[in-house]
Amino acid sequence: MVQRGSAQRPLQRALLQRALRRHTTWAPATAAVHADAALAATSHDGDVAPPIGLSTTFEDGSDHVYSRISAPTRHRCEAVLAALEGGDGARAVLFASGNAATHAVLASLAARNRERGRGRTRVSIDGIGYHGTRDAIAALGPAVEVVESADGLAEGDVVWLESPRNPDLRVPDVAKACAAPAAVVVDATFAPLAQEKLLDHVACVVHSATKGLGGHSDLLGGVAVTRDADLADRLAWYRTAAGAAPGSLDCWLLLRSLRTLDVRVARQGATAQRVAEALEVSGLLKRVLYPGLASHPDRAVAKRQMASFGSILAVECRSEAAAKALPGALSLFRSATSLGGVESLAEWRRKYDDAVSPDLVRLSIGLEDPDDLVGDLLGALRRLEEDAAFV
Ligand code: PLP
Repeated sequence: MVQRGSAQRPLQRALLQRALRRHTTWAPATAAVHADAALAATSHDGDVAPPIGLSTTFEDGSDHVYSRISAPTRHRCEAVLAALEGGDGARAVLFASGNAATHAVLASLAARNRERGRGRTRVSIDGIGYHGTRDAIAALGPAVEVVESADGLAEGDVVWLESPRNPDLRVPDVAKACAAPAAVVVDATFAPLAQEKLLDHVACVVHSATKGLGGHSDLLGGVAVTRDADLADRLAWYRTAAGAAPGSLDCWLLLRSLRTLDVRVARQGATAQRVAEALEVSGLLKRVLYPGLASHPDRAVAKRQMASFGSILAVECRSEAAAKALPGALSLFRSATSLGGVESLAEWRRKYDDAVSPDLVRLSIGLEDPDDLVGDLLGALRRLEEDAAFV
């Protein structure tokens, strides 16, 4: 039996609940700036910007004990994330990376299942998805078994969805998945703030905060948000037990980044839409995959489920050679993995994942001018088209 509930002390909980109650009428842009205001008591007098709390240990009688368990800057950041993703009754638990969050969610659900006498937890994964998630599951050992379909899963089992899915931008029907008895977890890394109502349906939402939430390619983190109090307690306990807490500097960078999330999501999403449309009409590619396009295979689901369509798109080039060459042929896009940052990135995804089409290039759209990005892409594609080696 795990010992739960020790990670957050009563005063902290009361402050957090007060913050969460206040923000329920706020739009995300407001919550991102103010949802941690009630926790400002932990900061220095009169600070408008949150300080970085670097201390690992705290005097008896304060709200925190030891930073592997809880820490002021992390706590403020979690208050904002809970407000943004979950609203009333939601709790956010931050981890050292997205994969640490994935591992913690599955370990916690599997432990609960075992305690309830259900034995091994089956986890369905929808098609390809992020390859690192399979590694996180493999690290759980025999407690968890991966199955390729959600059909036949029972209570206590888990349906793991990515919305949209890495790297092909397919959008799963979350409401449909929730009709079955298994717990649904959504990895929403590809479209933060674009699917605000997810927690009305699913057991837990996870993000790699390294991506759009952080948004500047300078921090590593992950978060799990849930309204299931037992699961939240288990996640906090797991983080303490496994030592999977993020560092204070990363939490501070994340908190600062969340303040501008709303404007980044709006601007990067609008640019991604413009880039996707320009690429589609160019005729220089086999296919452009972006949920904001009428041609997207899950367009109906995306329209129902998403408030906006995110900053990531995938393109299928005319040949593997062209796909391999495209990232290096661009001048504004950096040829690098990861996504969601202010700088645009291009990646030949097959390099990291054998299951992905060799023609696919993943594009992460940053904050540069849309016309400059379109010009860069069309110019590179035309140059490749003219070169017989890439046709
Ligand atoms: N989930 C998705 C969809 C991802 O793309 C990634 C990383 O690329 C992760 C989770 C893992 O995140 P992290 O690298 O922060 O561990």
